[in-house]
Amino acid sequence: MAKVRDIAVVCGDGIGQEVIPIAREVLSCLHPEFEFFPVEVGYGRWKRTGEAMGADELALLKSADAILFGAVTTPPSPDYQSVVVRIRKELDLFANVRPVKGDGFDITVVRENLEGLYSGIEEVGENRATTLRLLTRRECERIARFACSITGPRTLTVGHKANVLKSDVFFREICLHEASVAGVKCNERFIDALCLDVLLHPASYDVIVTTNMFGDILSDVAAYLVGGLGMLPSANIGEDYALFEPVHGSAPDIAGQGVANPVAALRSAALLLRYAGDISGADAVEHAIQQVFSGGIRTRDLGGSAGTKEFGDAVLYELGLKGTT
Ligand code: ATP
Repeated sequence: MAKVRDIAVVCGDGIGQEVIPIAREVLSCLHPEFEFFPVEVGYGRWKRTGEAMGADELALLKSADAILFGAVTTPPSPDYQSVVVRIRKELDLFANVRPVKGDGFDITVVRENLEGLYSGIEEVGENRATTLRLLTRRECERIARFACSITGPRTLTVGHKANVLKSDVFFREICLHEASVAGVKCNERFIDALCLDVLLHPASYDVIVTTNMFGDILSDVAAYLVGGLGMLPSANIGEDYALFEPVHGSAPDIAGQGVANPVAALRSAALLLRYAGDISGADAVEHAIQQVFSGGIRTRDLGGSAGTKEFGDAVLYELGLKGTT
């Protein structure tokens, strides 16, 4: 259990500005002793200052016990480096944990978070562009051991494309070896078939470990099971730091309208509570979200008409932290 008191809050860009204040309010109502401090990072800061994250912001993030993170826009430009990828590397957040939970299934996607196709080793030339898919023994072992540690008596599935990619032959062998050392039940699937099978038979899966880009795609696909991207939280875990963020991005198409679904952000706050050892607080947030759904309140992406704030207020009300909605 981690000691958590100081929490860095990065709203970031787009709907991050709308959903993170809701998650923060729930955390501060449940834990008045938490100290929050804002950190400005992202495309908005880049447009204002020419830098998406400065040394001061990085130091602030490192000074926090935990980070609540919204979303940052990453324009597809050769001169712009993804700030969230940089933060993951600077803070050595090697494991990205994405729970996908619904009626009759409880899947956790564990995504290697530092290398693979996000190695940052790339080059764009006149007639050729390359991105190096780097997998090191150290990171494969680290992510495999982490996945085994959270699998326990359940089953670990290794998602890979070892029939085509030599780097995945390497990844697969390390994962299978670590599972056997840990005594964890383990099977494997090709990642493309796995994306379909997770949708067809979600109850067949417990923990899935995979490489960086495959994990990103798999978790977006799995979002279909629970109503879309507005629903899925994630935890980025390292040895010394932890960052909690919705799986979704900044959603520029709906930003500024007050209609974004705050559930992914609220669930990310619940993961932060779990990390801090407040399991009953985390369960209460999850339960409150279900109660709000049962009461028929939903945001637009789920076919309802509630706004972001209205949904957040309803969750606070269910938690007994606010008067009538
Ligand atoms: P980015 O460039 O920051 O990754 P994006 O628009 O490419 O942003 P996402 O933000 O992940 O990608 O979202 C894709 C689409 O899913 C959005 O355009 C939006 O329509 C929908 N969406 C994502 N998150 C939410 C949410 N919390 N509530 C409602 N709709 C959402």
